[in-house]
Amino acid sequence: MSLNHVRPWRNIYRRKSRQIMVGSVPVGGDAPIAVQTMTNTLTTDVAATVAQVQAAAEAGADIVRVSVPDEASSKALKEIVRESPVPIVADIHFHYKRGIEAAEAGAACLRINPGNIGDEKRVQEVIKAARDHDCSIRIGVNAGSLEKHLLEKYREPCPDAMVESGLEHIRILQDNDFHNFKISVKASDVFLSAAAYQGIAEATDAPIHLGITEAGGLVSGTIKSAIGLGNLLWMGIGDTIRVSLSADPVEEVKVGYEILKSLGLRHRGVNIISCPSCARQGFDVIKTVEALEQRLEHIKTPMSLSIIGCVVNGPGEALMTDVGFTGGGAGSGMVYLAGKASHKMSNDQMIDHIVEQVEKKAAELDAAAEAAE
Ligand code: SF4
Repeated sequence: MSLNHVRPWRNIYRRKSRQIMVGSVPVGGDAPIAVQTMTNTLTTDVAATVAQVQAAAEAGADIVRVSVPDEASSKALKEIVRESPVPIVADIHFHYKRGIEAAEAGAACLRINPGNIGDEKRVQEVIKAARDHDCSIRIGVNAGSLEKHLLEKYREPCPDAMVESGLEHIRILQDNDFHNFKISVKASDVFLSAAAYQGIAEATDAPIHLGITEAGGLVSGTIKSAIGLGNLLWMGIGDTIRVSLSADPVEEVKVGYEILKSLGLRHRGVNIISCPSCARQGFDVIKTVEALEQRLEHIKTPMSLSIIGCVVNGPGEALMTDVGFTGGGAGSGMVYLAGKASHKMSNDQMIDHIVEQVEKKAAELDAAAEAAE
């Protein structure tokens, strides 16, 4: 349960955006911040792409994006959409025909920049296809592919150029009376991204898709994303997020959730609070946490678990978690339930025991949530 009403220093006031639907997922307004990822399989390899979409959905992705670079991919998209448990966004770059085909294939959203797809007639055809098939659009401004006239005007990619680019694309959709869109203004530079996002957040009420593009590998990209997206989310900006990593899409989803969890914006699964460990540890904290992370991956119920090496911080952290374990002496430690010391447990049995306790607590919380509905 959120205790933000008694801890006002934890409040985040979300920017008021209008809400759109990406298939069955609301984005914007007071909807939960949606987590997205993107497949990196060949879209024409339907089986591999569907498997990746399913794995991402299982990890918590609300929406998954798939590249549609050619006609064969448009055909595959139809099957992927049919098999997918979550709405699919079709990533289109310049080719308007791919946009039309993707909307017809059942994509829930097209990632396409209307200013990049050619003359007005083509733009109108894509918008018509989107409208006819209840498909939203994401305008995706990217610092690396800004329009020539803006680069000439501003000399280099900068926040103003990115905002202006975004507003130009928005104007094209609005002139065609199409309002079912969201927008992103991504850059690989954290400062540029953050400033561009602040600018676009002030200039429009469209829902915002947050991302730091080409952020890097698992560790460096996670840090960059946590700083960039974390700051924006903390300011209340962002209705859906995608963490871009040179890593498995499942990792992107996990990192996205961890960012949202850290800010109390969304909860899913077990939030493990653990100490870094030191010479005082009563058991091997690092190995235990690694094992528990794996063994508790199946839990989707939002709950907290503290795994602390010794009594210096253990009892204090356990006070605020659903289940806790604090190392002690002589090969055993103390198990805490709902913040209270409950019983002792030997170190060699504690992993199985903690998994059991967490599963029990998750079932209790699920039953309570069901009863409250
Ligand atoms: S809680 Fe104890 S074991 Fe963990 S880092 Fe702090 S002093 Fe070390």
